[in-house]
Amino acid sequence: MAGAGSDFEVVVIGGGAAGVAAARRLHEASIRCLIVEARPRLGGRAWTVTDESGFKLDLGCGWLHSADRNPWVAVAQQHGATIDKTPPPWMRPAIELGFPRAEQAEFGQAMGAFFARLEAAGQGGPDTPGAAFFDPASRWNGLINAVSTHISGAEWDRVSVRDFDRYDDNGINWRIVEGFGTTIAAYAANVPAMLDCEVRGIDHSGKRLCIETRKGVILADQVIVTVSSAILASERIRFAPALPAKIEAAAGLPLGLADKLFMSLEGAEEFEKDVRLFAHTDRAGTGGYHFRPFGRPLIEAYFGGQQARELEADGERAFFDFAVSELTGVLGSNFAKRIKPLRIHCWGEDPFALGSYSYAKPGFADCRATLAEPVDDRLFFAGEACSRHDFSTAHGGWHTGVATAERVVAARRQ
Ligand SMILES: Cc1cc2nc3c(=O)[nH]c(=O)nc-3n(C[C@H](O)[C@H](O)[C@H](O)COP(=O)(O)OP(=O)(O)OC[C@H]3O[C@@H](n4cnc5c(N)ncnc54)[C@H](O)[C@@H]3O)c2cc1C
Repeated sequence: MAGAGSDFEVVVIGGGAAGVAAARRLHEASIRCLIVEARPRLGGRAWTVTDESGFKLDLGCGWLHSADRNPWVAVAQQHGATIDKTPPPWMRPAIELGFPRAEQAEFGQAMGAFFARLEAAGQGGPDTPGAAFFDPASRWNGLINAVSTHISGAEWDRVSVRDFDRYDDNGINWRIVEGFGTTIAAYAANVPAMLDCEVRGIDHSGKRLCIETRKGVILADQVIVTVSSAILASERIRFAPALPAKIEAAAGLPLGLADKLFMSLEGAEEFEKDVRLFAHTDRAGTGGYHFRPFGRPLIEAYFGGQQARELEADGERAFFDFAVSELTGVLGSNFAKRIKPLRIHCWGEDPFALGSYSYAKPGFADCRATLAEPVDDRLFFAGEACSRHDFSTAHGGWHTGVATAERVVAARRQ
């Protein structure tokens, strides 16, 4: 039964980038709203932790993509955080060991040509997997696939060309020294939130919406659902009446997988700051090793797609063992003594994410619009997977959250 304090005008399900931005907008419009969040913290796939040296590590999103139009920049600055504008490692030359500069240039050209073919295909004709545009004669297809596991969390044979082409990125990438996760959680200050409160069902058959949670029933006039597309597709939240079109749309937008492992690095000064190393250049199953992020004595390793799935299946330690084997292959066996594992989070096994960020399956690009469509002006949907041009990002989450909150405000005024 709903009790006192469990009746709201609007309930926002999920306190990640989209949920926090939506709830903040509603709160500012003096609408009595509540964030209901399954985790004991806000931020969702944005999560900053502090390592033993006091560094803030982003286990989820770290980059402010399209930074000069990214709303989280202003939020970070309002909270007194520092924006670091060092160009990202993927836009600078990589470490030359095992990957000489001439080969890097060749790879850059091959990837540029591949992206040009994708762009041409994305704008007309049938939707196909990106892998259809590999040059079969190119030696760089493995590494181009590795890049896809970083961008989409999946190899090109799974990714829709049309959807990929709609992604809008202006190439400006900044970071927040104090952490992206910290910023998003801080933006929820003063917005009522119920943590540790998993939502299990939403009954929208009656006059008011009944939200069934781990802590009891909450009533609301309207609900904004911001859980990941993978959570929606898994049907861990039951809708009554059922919403098969919504679930189908979510299933067309699976979450790719990307996991970050942070390691401490002894004698870090030997390496340039913010520089990347690829241990293998002939396969998708290789990590991207970002040396000295922010100049810190660390390595931030990025594992995506099938490689990340296999490592998650073998447990957290497998990430470090894999990193050691790859790095010693390039830097020599003594390098193993210089690195220690600090933090990792397995996003695929995370029960409240079930992956890292959404991509569209070939033929399913228009599912983003279907997912974002409200039901009866009472059940609204937001989150990065609902964004047509900024999907898979925290600013995509922000934009869908705020746009949805505006629709709710408009619907309440009618
Ligand atoms: C390793 C990694 C690296 C990334 N790098 C970047 C990057 O550099 N830049 C960038 O912009 N983006 C990046 N992203 C993606 C970015 O983090 C996400 O796109 C964004 O945070 C998603 O926000 P959201 O609000 O849509 O979803 P979420 O953050 O997933 O929020 C949904 C919320 O719903 C909650 N929830 C789930 N189920 C329930 C339930 N049943 N009841 C109640 N609550 C529930 C979840 O706990 C979560 O808090 C990265 C992600 C990962 C994992």
